[in-house]
Amino acid sequence: MKAIVYLLIVLFIFLESCMTTKKMNVMFASVNNNVCRRLSGKVVVYAIFVDSKETKPWSDYDIRSTLDSLRKGMDWLELQAKKDSIPLDIQIDCNKKNNGIVPVYQEFSKKTLSATLYKKPLFSGVKDIHKWADKVAIEAGKNLLKDTSRLVKTKNKLSDRERLIARLRAIHRTDNIALMYLINNYHTDEMSLTLDANSNHNVEYCIVSYKYPSVFAHEFLHLFGAWDLYITPFDNKRKAVKRKNMAMEMFPNEIMAFAYRRIESLEISPFTKYTIGWTNELEKKYSDAMIGKMLRPVKY
Ligand SMILES: [Zn+2]
Repeated sequence: MKAIVYLLIVLFIFLESCMTTKKMNVMFASVNNNVCRRLSGKVVVYAIFVDSKETKPWSDYDIRSTLDSLRKGMDWLELQAKKDSIPLDIQIDCNKKNNGIVPVYQEFSKKTLSATLYKKPLFSGVKDIHKWADKVAIEAGKNLLKDTSRLVKTKNKLSDRERLIARLRAIHRTDNIALMYLINNYHTDEMSLTLDANSNHNVEYCIVSYKYPSVFAHEFLHLFGAWDLYITPFDNKRKAVKRKNMAMEMFPNEIMAFAYRRIESLEISPFTKYTIGWTNELEKKYSDAMIGKMLRPVKY
């Protein structure tokens, strides 16, 4: 089994005060939040292929097979949505120049994604990855149609990722833009990563190292608020480990727990459906198991 680490950095839970009872209502911040708000309607995945010295150069074959795999992951998601009567149309767009896909070249500060992420002091690597993502976004933005977006003019200080998103929103006429950076790894122990999925002010994005449809679907779901339901290296408290173990038992085919299985064998659990906005409340038994009896998830 591959020792691959997935990571959802810093899960913010917003607590709504509920002083009159002992229980606290909690809001899972990512629904109706940031760029990827609620997983329904038209969503555009914007894929940017990125080359660097440490990764395998993207060949035409690699790009084609990766796009096939990405499409397969998105088709599976559309099928799951259909079963739940959720309208979902996922379209894929890529960074292109003269109708061809041209990878952007950008080095990580510590050569590889994982070395950069784990750079010391803790979290300084995340800043470096944001800078990397912004530089790639600038290059990708140069290949888009001329900027006529009103959205860009609404804020004075837009980050480079925000600028790219604003232009993509205008081009595709949808708010839901899922920003995906694709790197082609030689290494089987490299990670995939989603950043800022629960941020209130930064554009969320993911960096995907592999071509499995299930991995694309897993990272995509993070962008819309899904939690990791397997034990990550960041679950160092006993309680967190116990909860993840319970999640894996309760949801034995859950995509957020078992991302490396064949996608056809996977499902989206009631817990994940709540986090991505497919259901507006969470059954008590799942909420008690996953966030404890003292917290009550809000109805969306
Ligand atoms: Zn994950």
